[in-house]
Amino acid sequence: MAAVECPGCKANITVPDLINCPLCQTHLNPPFLRELREKEARANRAAANAQRIQGAKQWLILAVFGVVIGLAGYLVYSVVVPSEAQLHARKVSAALLACQQRIAGLAEYGEAETPPYVKNFGKGDEFYFAWQRGSFHFKNGFGAPVPMSASCIGSVSTGEIQQLTVNGKTVL
Ligand SMILES: [Zn+2]
Repeated sequence: MAAVECPGCKANITVPDLINCPLCQTHLNPPFLRELREKEARANRAAANAQRIQGAKQWLILAVFGVVIGLAGYLVYSVVVPSEAQLHARKVSAALLACQQRIAGLAEYGEAETPPYVKNFGKGDEFYFAWQRGSFHFKNGFGAPVPMSASCIGSVSTGEIQQLTVNGKTVL
């Protein structure tokens, strides 16, 4: 409640509902009191407005903060947790390496030449790698290079090789 100055004794009085000043008994006329109440009401409205604006600002700051935290979290998540496609690609790479090693291990003479990188032509969970004849060589018993071909088929999810063919001969 706003303090008002008594027009009679100039004391600060905080009870504008009174008709007379409690100290000097000066009559406080109704227009004077009405004006005071309106002044007080305006002050209260201004304070409420300021509080609302303050509250809105705090919510805005919280919302911005929340969005920033959310974005940062999403970024960390997308870097740390690989996507389905990334996992698939890793498993395909592992399967290719397994096929290359398996094929190289079949060389009977001399040092094995590992088949080069090839694209996966399999669909869905199947991997299918194929090497054209001459894309790698094994040595024969005389040490001469023999052009080789191969295909390697299996399951991406388990990494299991289900069919392996080298120079048209089914190994698996
Ligand atoms: Zn007074």
